[in-house]
Amino acid sequence: MSYKAINPYNGELIREFAATSDQEVEAALKNAELFYQTAKKEPISKRAALLARLATEFTDHLEKYARYLTTNMGKRIDEARSEVKKNAAFANYYVHAGEKALKNQTYSNAAGKTAQLEFSSIGAILSVEPWNFPYTQIMRVFAPNFILGNPVLLKHASIVPECAQAFEDACHAAGLPAGAFKNLFVDYDQVNKIIADPRVQGVALTGSEKAGATLAAEAGKNLKKSTMELGGTDVCIVLNDADLETAIAGAVSARLNNAGQVCTAAKRYLVQSKIYDKFLAGIIAEFKQKKLGDPLDEQTTLAPLSSKKAQQNLQKQVANVLAGGSKVLWGDPRPVEGPGAFFNPLIITGMTFDNPMYDTELFGPVAQIYKVDTEAEMLKIANHSNYGLGGAIYSQDAQHAQQLASQVETGQIAINQPLSSHPEFPFGGVKKSGYGRELSDLGIREFANIKTILK
Ligand code: NAP
Repeated sequence: MSYKAINPYNGELIREFAATSDQEVEAALKNAELFYQTAKKEPISKRAALLARLATEFTDHLEKYARYLTTNMGKRIDEARSEVKKNAAFANYYVHAGEKALKNQTYSNAAGKTAQLEFSSIGAILSVEPWNFPYTQIMRVFAPNFILGNPVLLKHASIVPECAQAFEDACHAAGLPAGAFKNLFVDYDQVNKIIADPRVQGVALTGSEKAGATLAAEAGKNLKKSTMELGGTDVCIVLNDADLETAIAGAVSARLNNAGQVCTAAKRYLVQSKIYDKFLAGIIAEFKQKKLGDPLDEQTTLAPLSSKKAQQNLQKQVANVLAGGSKVLWGDPRPVEGPGAFFNPLIITGMTFDNPMYDTELFGPVAQIYKVDTEAEMLKIANHSNYGLGGAIYSQDAQHAQQLASQVETGQIAINQPLSSHPEFPFGGVKKSGYGRELSDLGIREFANIKTILK
């Protein structure tokens, strides 16, 4: 397995990294164990101060860290800067809220007994992460576990090795103990061996359903706790009474941000009949304005996909969607030639339950639109999915929107705004979108020993 940074804008190789040897993995596990044992005896405040320094390291060198995102996976430079800032915000949330979330809790029963709940560390966590948000995906796992006292070993996506290395370098620059975080350029066999190692007590994966099923099985085989943050086919429901401008702005950004490569992107627009024509015209007007280009150029409004492989895969998926009976409503479905991994934005219509590609996650700037009469029909389509990650509902009747939101089978949903992650709110899915929650007070307890002490 090779870890290569290739610029998806021009196909040029930036840097290739040497594979991590088994001996280096062993050294990382030893250091991790040392950190775990040492951190148990130290106050949380010590780690909180170090985590604050890590956040500052990222914001103090924003441009440097942002550039790695842009050159390794093609993120537009302004989105890359936002990711670096969000990365620091995730860390700072746990700097301030982590200790509180781990405070002891008291339980009691009718017989007059009480029990104290303690939250403590359990050992090393293996974090396996995708390329679409190369820093924040790591920080979601690292920040809470560092506060808790669990060391984190990282296996990052093989196409963003400079980002993985940059995160480790940032930890060193901030003065974190060596065992607290270690990036490993390992192959899948080594990943399985790490999961089996008794010093490792948890597996946190963000990625595709396929990787989730494989690593959850591996974790299960070894009786290790796991969290799975997987893909989705999120809906963007637009009711007749929606504020048109808000709905259009939210729907477009939720589909095209990060070149459409977001787990909670609005992959299916379900639009009520009376507002449909105006909404569609608005969406088309916005899609038309998108300018493909160099993601380092501030004028570019639509970046390339993360790699040539991603481009070719999406091209194949769209061809299959069309072969299954759907139609292109707007856009040019022909491949974009050249060394860059560009993909023209598309709006597709006519998706039916019997299309073999129904419920396939299209990871790129491809929107599917449905004209729907009733809310019952909208819910039927929304919930006719093996996934259950997120979604959004647009309506000026917020109370009604909330009632509808409760009936959508997903782990999270937003009203009158695109769904996005916030450090204070739990993030995660149901069904094949995975299990477990990241961020918030729930995220820090996923890999805690919740110990009951009866008194
Ligand atoms: P992916 O192919 O599943 O890869 C994710 C990570 O898993 C990578 O580090 C990959 O390494 C590794 N991996 C894959 N198979 C493995 C195996 N058998 N053993 C060990 N490691 C393995 O996903 P992706 O294409 O990078 O990311 C896109 C997917 O992530 C989409 O489905 C998206 O919806 C989902 N996602 C979900 C969330 C969420 O919070 N729910 C957030 C972001 C993304 P290699 O790169 O070396 O193959």
